[in-house]
Amino acid sequence: MKNAQEHLISKGIHPSHQRVAIMDYLLKHRTHPNVDEIYSALNESMPTLSKTTIYNTLKLFEEKGAVSSISIDEKNARYDAFTQPHAHFQCIQCGAIYDLDLNQEPTLSDETKSEFTILNTQIYYKGICPKCKTPEK
Ligand SMILES: [Zn+2]
Ligand SMILES: [Zn+2]
Repeated sequence: MKNAQEHLISKGIHPSHQRVAIMDYLLKHRTHPNVDEIYSALNESMPTLSKTTIYNTLKLFEEKGAVSSISIDEKNARYDAFTQPHAHFQCIQCGAIYDLDLNQEPTLSDETKSEFTILNTQIYYKGICPKCKTPEK
């Protein structure tokens, strides 16, 4: 895994102190945090960092392809620094969001691909996560 600074530079983003801190947080926490969670986590070490700055920074990261936003949670956009194709799973009990590996990328029919320009693909599953699942006997 690249470090935050290298990741930003490789996406053509100037690695300012605040941007590196936000990207570093996303790379180290594969929990798909929302703006509020990133703000609470970084607020202590960076009191000058505002929610607006975080929001704008994430928007820039998304435009440059450094993160993707996922909308599995209807209330808040969540952010993901893991940009390879993968599916998401949300546990209906604890609300945790997991990354799921795909055996193969989802494929669309040739007819669909000629008609539609696909910019973003999101695959969501919902269910019970391993931690919440009661062991079977
Ligand atoms: Zn769970
Ligand atoms: Zn993910």
